[in-house]
Amino acid sequence: MITDMSVKTVEQLCLACGLCCDGTLFDHVQLGPDDDAKKLKTLGLPVTVSRSQPPVTRFRQPCAALCADRTCRLYADRPRQCRDFECGVYKDAKAGRISFTAALRQVKKARQQADNIRRLLRALGDTEEERPLGERFRRMQRRMESTITDEAANHTFAELGLAVHAFNLLAHKKFYTKADAP
Ligand code: SF4
Ligand code: SF4
Repeated sequence: MITDMSVKTVEQLCLACGLCCDGTLFDHVQLGPDDDAKKLKTLGLPVTVSRSQPPVTRFRQPCAALCADRTCRLYADRPRQCRDFECGVYKDAKAGRISFTAALRQVKKARQQADNIRRLLRALGDTEEERPLGERFRRMQRRMESTITDEAANHTFAELGLAVHAFNLLAHKKFYTKADAP
């Protein structure tokens, strides 16, 4: 399909988003054979090797290379997963299937939903913003299941469950492609 949307324009979308780098869509960035793990570690990414079999070399999100203006501090050296990933909204905008304005609306909606999840986690006492969102929710689930809590906390946790469910629906519909889903 011929599109009048330049790559530069569609990249503006990522600068308004950052969801694939800030721990919202992914818990980790996995390194592959193309990636220089040692160099990335030297550049400040907390690269670790899992104890699983086979071992996985990865670093945790929110990414240490993500700047406040949502640019990537290591853009030229970013790993293969980062180079290859284009979410569904980005792909649709790039191909001209949706307008830039419509794409921006999707990004804004997803960011608002993720912010709401963070707000609810904070209300339940989790302020560890440096951890990925999915991990924070799973940890909160375990905590709530093993602790006796008051009615207000139970209500907030129910609201959190609904917010996470709504975000996951949106993420799977508009952001992950089949191969990307965590
Ligand atoms: S989730 Fe999509 S629009 Fe957002 S930064 Fe990543 S590729 Fe760009
Ligand atoms: S290395 Fe750059 S592109 Fe990759 S997750 Fe970090 S900020 Fe995003």
